[in-house]
Amino acid sequence: METPVYRYNLRLLEETLATAQTEANRYNYTLHYAVKANNNSTILETIAKRGFGADCVSGNEITAAINAGFAPLSIVFAGVGKTESEIELAISIGIACIHVESIEELQLINRISARLEKTATIALRLNPNLDAGTHQHITTGTSRNKFGLSNRELIQAVDTLPSLQWVKFIGFHFHIGSQILDLKKFVQLAHYANITVRHYAQLNISYLNLGGGLGIDYDNPSDSPIPNFAEYFLAFYRNLRISRNISIHFEPGRSLVGQCGDLLTKVLYVKQSDERKFAVVDAGMNNLIRPALYQAKHKIEVVDTRSLAVDLYDVVGPICESTDTFASNIELPALKQGDILAIHSAGAYGESMSSRYNLRDGTESIFVDEANLTLANP
Ligand SMILES: *Cc1c(COP(=O)(O)O)cnc(C)c1O
Repeated sequence: METPVYRYNLRLLEETLATAQTEANRYNYTLHYAVKANNNSTILETIAKRGFGADCVSGNEITAAINAGFAPLSIVFAGVGKTESEIELAISIGIACIHVESIEELQLINRISARLEKTATIALRLNPNLDAGTHQHITTGTSRNKFGLSNRELIQAVDTLPSLQWVKFIGFHFHIGSQILDLKKFVQLAHYANITVRHYAQLNISYLNLGGGLGIDYDNPSDSPIPNFAEYFLAFYRNLRISRNISIHFEPGRSLVGQCGDLLTKVLYVKQSDERKFAVVDAGMNNLIRPALYQAKHKIEVVDTRSLAVDLYDVVGPICESTDTFASNIELPALKQGDILAIHSAGAYGESMSSRYNLRDGTESIFVDEANLTLANP
């Protein structure tokens, strides 16, 4: 087998999508897949076919979503640094909603819309100053983060709206962070949304977007291959107190695609330093950067081993950086050259964050459609 390679289980993806949709449909919630989690075209097409909308954070993601079959009116667009040409693309395609993150962006959108003579539908992204309690690099909703409008800016933005002829304001957007497993954070978000909607009742909003952020089980992917969407949406249903005329939207990324992908990699060398035994593998941080960037832990298993003995290993990549380490001091069956390892739960923020650092080859992917592929077996 050619390695390193992302292996995606399309059956698990389909089951995850169906579960999320069934649970969201109970409450009439609309889902937009966060494209940045994984923009592989087969994954995008699979999600588009299921009738999901798309949540994009760049003009190129909007184009990729359109090419994969997402309807323009199912696409929303967020980001603190949208360029003029990205905004122009969004308006001319006629996407559902632009999530605005600053007053200056709001004014630029109005100018571009006026020039194109096409009204832009917008929502204001608010920063609820709510700590999602995850790794600091993936927390987005506190006032130390660059995302969204603060309360003061919101007041100013609302005051500006009536003077912006080409902007149609429909509601509010939130996204507090990622890999959130403590549902209390979402309960707090629901309460915050209630207060905001009530406070701005005179604006008659018709749209509320609560972002993404639901986490996955990196420790035991085979025990919980599909996140608990039932509890997640129920937490919002129980706590949101807003008019039935307001449509409610979510933007799951990781929770939809995270568990359906494994990164398969081959052991190139086993070497023993004075202190540690290293398994040097052919995947590097350029293929999967999460461990280096967020100290993320991915479960690693040996595929098809006949070894009964176990040993402790640092699983490291070939890149010239000490952070190019997938795991430290983990127990694995005794490894030898050529063994294949599966790095689990790599379907989200894996391939989409990959690079060609060290001028390594681009990252490849394969697709399987199998039940019970949670334990690696190619
Ligand atoms: C990244 C992002 C998401 C998706 O987050 P997940 O944690 O992958 O669910 C949703 N909305 C916005 C605005 C984002 O930036």
